[in-house]
Amino acid sequence: MTPFAYHRAQSVADAVRAGMAPGAHFLGGGTNLVDLAKGGVVQPMLLVDVSRLPLAEVTTTADGGVRIGAMARNSDVANHPLIRARHPLLSQALLAGASPQLRNMATVGGNLLQRTRCPYFYDTAFEHCNKRLPGSGCDAVDGINRNHAILGASAACIATHPSDMCVALAALRASVRVHGPRGERSIAMADFHRLPGDAPQRDTTLAPGELVVGVDLPANGFAGHAHYLKLRDRASYAFALVSVAAALDVRGGVIQDAALALGGVAHKPWRRPEAEARLVGRAPSDAAFEEAADLLLDGARPASQNGFKVTLARRAIVRALRDAGAQA
Ligand code: SF4
Repeated sequence: MTPFAYHRAQSVADAVRAGMAPGAHFLGGGTNLVDLAKGGVVQPMLLVDVSRLPLAEVTTTADGGVRIGAMARNSDVANHPLIRARHPLLSQALLAGASPQLRNMATVGGNLLQRTRCPYFYDTAFEHCNKRLPGSGCDAVDGINRNHAILGASAACIATHPSDMCVALAALRASVRVHGPRGERSIAMADFHRLPGDAPQRDTTLAPGELVVGVDLPANGFAGHAHYLKLRDRASYAFALVSVAAALDVRGGVIQDAALALGGVAHKPWRRPEAEARLVGRAPSDAAFEEAADLLLDGARPASQNGFKVTLARRAIVRALRDAGAQA
């Protein structure tokens, strides 16, 4: 690990000011950043410790939504009564991620910003990784790519986003609140993470110095019919081959609204509003779920080793929607 300076932020404004310094990184729970720094994947010159800022509350908002502070620990959010009652999809996704020890440390803000687990990105012995070394190439394209993207990838990068929490947040149409040198703004989850394009080194649309301060969840009718399905190579502490966040608002036997997003298949949580719209106004049925799955997976382009993910994802979408729809 290269030497770095350390600054404990006293306020959000202080953090943003310090975060503008060259080579500055915000430090929350450190569960991803410390690994990256130890491995030489990132070389921070300054760590701005934001973990003690008063941003860990989970509260209701005037319009019936829920606001989660960026420093709230993943375990605390997953087990919070408001989240369990109003957004069980998010609770399930958080509990599907990592180990209990990691969930106790990891923060909501850090989870949003965690980096891909592509092995070529993590191992600096590999010379060609456009995300780690822009312009160097991509060893995964002709290498081991079983876990990589089938949707939204580019010639420059076929990595996937590793988070479970973000898949649920995308399905639930959350927004991310950030503070930066130009003040505060809110970014829809759909716009927060980027597809790789020709700049895979940029995971998000955050501007330099912007600090994530929280996540807002709008009110919805999904609490009674929500299911997060994660398929992986082993039962725990593994990243998703495919995951599905599925929730339905069903009244009178008819779907009034639907939430649907995929993890493990793209550089960002994968959601297409037209797949959700295909379900609205219909009774829950496998035929409707299969149509939504086909829309969500339209344009899938597997890499050399992960063609199985298309079939796996289609079946997982149908199963997750079926399980969500079957709940009382
Ligand atoms: Fe790097 Fe992306 Fe290629 Fe992986 S898939 S080696 S992260 S450029």
